[in-house]
Amino acid sequence: MKSIVYFSGLKNKKHSSPLNKIKKLINRCEPDKLFSRGDLIAIKTHFGELGNTAFIPPIYLRPVVEVLKGLKTNPFLTDTNTLYVGMRTNSVDHLHNVNWNGFGYSTLGIPAIIADGLRGENSIDVPINGRYLSAVKLASDIVNADGMVCISHFKGHEVSGFGGAIKNLSMGCASRQGKLEMHSVTRPKVHQDKCTACGRCLSACAHDAIVIKPKAFINENCTGCARCIAVCPEGAIGINWDETVENTQLKMAEYAYGVHKSLKGKIVYINILINISPACDCYPGNDAPICGDIGFLSSLDPVALDQASYDLVMNQFGGKDPFVEIYPYLTPEIQLKHAEEMGLGCRQYEIKHVE
Ligand code: SF4
Ligand code: SF4
Repeated sequence: MKSIVYFSGLKNKKHSSPLNKIKKLINRCEPDKLFSRGDLIAIKTHFGELGNTAFIPPIYLRPVVEVLKGLKTNPFLTDTNTLYVGMRTNSVDHLHNVNWNGFGYSTLGIPAIIADGLRGENSIDVPINGRYLSAVKLASDIVNADGMVCISHFKGHEVSGFGGAIKNLSMGCASRQGKLEMHSVTRPKVHQDKCTACGRCLSACAHDAIVIKPKAFINENCTGCARCIAVCPEGAIGINWDETVENTQLKMAEYAYGVHKSLKGKIVYINILINISPACDCYPGNDAPICGDIGFLSSLDPVALDQASYDLVMNQFGGKDPFVEIYPYLTPEIQLKHAEEMGLGCRQYEIKHVE
């Protein structure tokens, strides 16, 4: 059976507002059947690394907020701290970044909550019985939310080919430990040249996995909890990005399934196909878009939504995949195939146009 994907293109003859289109798209997914009065609804987005300008402009989130407030729910903006060191490594810097990129209370009238705690330590294991993972490690306030609107910027990505709803759900909702699990198969490493032997990582490690001799060194006791990464004031603890891109995509699909399962499917998905940059919004900068703006899509099925978004982008290139041209070592379909195998959704879809 095909899943329904609603689509509203940017071209119109009536000068209608893109914001009204987004409102119609979310309402077509009947959020009133998913969410109840007083529910704490996470609006999961990506606030963009400081310096990047390709992320979803905050104004596009306003219709989402209006719909959720109209349903008397209690929405909040959310994302999780990053695995690597940057402006979104801990919740304090992350919330500065939220405001500097325009997602503050004065713009959207709702608070932002970083879902995995001060330094990404708040993680809950959700059993999934996947082919690769028996459980996924999710940010606690994602799991604790009553429902979600997952609003994703569809663009290129150097690990998954493209990043859309599956990427936003998986990497975007995982705790730091979960992100490490998707990206790496070995323990973090200390860059000896940066380490000042201050000992803060030693105090943060609950597994006696760090010794100072004379600089910090991580030993075989490491469980990959990733706590030490966020406490180092020198940014000296790095990640071995040594998981294969295929396996990272497979794990992403399982993580996305875990989020959908933990929220009992109470998620409305929206993909924004504007400013389609070749790389992730995690970079502190961005390249020119790879094609013109396309529009907006919504669905209750994240797999169908990403497949439809992928197809719309390829249509701009006569059916060719522009992401594979940029990242020839990647097969972006892996995430879609495995997400479908996991039961997250269906790659067959029917587009319904919304004006
Ligand atoms: S926290 Fe950083 S600088 Fe301090 S000992 Fe650990 S690795 Fe070295
Ligand atoms: S990742 Fe966790 S267990 Fe490993 S050294 Fe860092 S704090 Fe310790």
